[in-house]
Amino acid sequence: LEDNEFCVYYQPMFVTMTGQLKSAEALIRWIKPDGTFISPAQFIPTAERSDLIMDIDWYVTESVCKTLEKQNTMPQFPISVNFSRRHIREKNFTENLVSIVDKYELPHPLLEVEITESAMVGEEDKLYDWIVSIRNAGFSVAIDDFGSGLSSLQFVKDIPADVLKIDKSLLSHNCEDEKERIVLESIFNFAHRLNMKTVAEGVETKEQLAFLRSCECYKIQGYLFARP
Ligand code: C2E
Ligand code: CA
Ligand code: CA
Repeated sequence: LEDNEFCVYYQPMFVTMTGQLKSAEALIRWIKPDGTFISPAQFIPTAERSDLIMDIDWYVTESVCKTLEKQNTMPQFPISVNFSRRHIREKNFTENLVSIVDKYELPHPLLEVEITESAMVGEEDKLYDWIVSIRNAGFSVAIDDFGSGLSSLQFVKDIPADVLKIDKSLLSHNCEDEKERIVLESIFNFAHRLNMKTVAEGVETKEQLAFLRSCECYKIQGYLFARP
């Protein structure tokens, strides 16, 4: 962080039905001065073992705001930022978020907070208030990696999030397995009936896209359309 070796990439998200560009997700990369590229999968888990992850996530948030500010003459797209579970217990999380975003005079709906489903396990008591406070400040909240972990539908139904991001592990290459389709159709139906917007991540094939259209999935993100 001190040597400025982190940089933020953006992966666009598109409306499933029309292909229209709608928003993007900020994904951190560590690129050393000699060009060595270190993927977040390699360093985020280590950073998450300490409070270092907090500094990293706030750094990404600030970078995103700088990028949005520079684009203020163009249409600005909402950007999603990944926050580690440690932030659920961070004092003044929402106040910090507000103060960064306000410093750049950006409308709050331009920022979306992504929190992974696995973060919810063990944090049930705190999570509800954390999400409500973020949303009350005008930001949007997405549950990331839905379907990858252990959270129960019972719990998700009570979570006041705006968006459910369906984990890429639930999508096979061509989505032709009957049982897989039933599971996914049920998840989309469940989310839509709870008034949550849906995003499918890791979309790589035309077959997946066609199936996601039949499920009325709202947005898609994946190599089929664009890499980060
Ligand atoms: P994630 O939040 O689930 O992000 C999506 C990951 O899927 C990204 O990996 C993205 O590059 C990858 N991806 C996108 N489209 C496709 C596709 O079509 N197929 C496949 N196989 N993969 C696709 P990435 O960038 O390596 O990030 C890995 C994870 O690291 C992220 O997973 C997120 O959990 C974490 N991460 C990244 N940036 C941050 C950050 O700023 N803060 C925190 N706390 N975590 C971060
Ligand atoms: Ca994410
Ligand atoms: Ca994800």
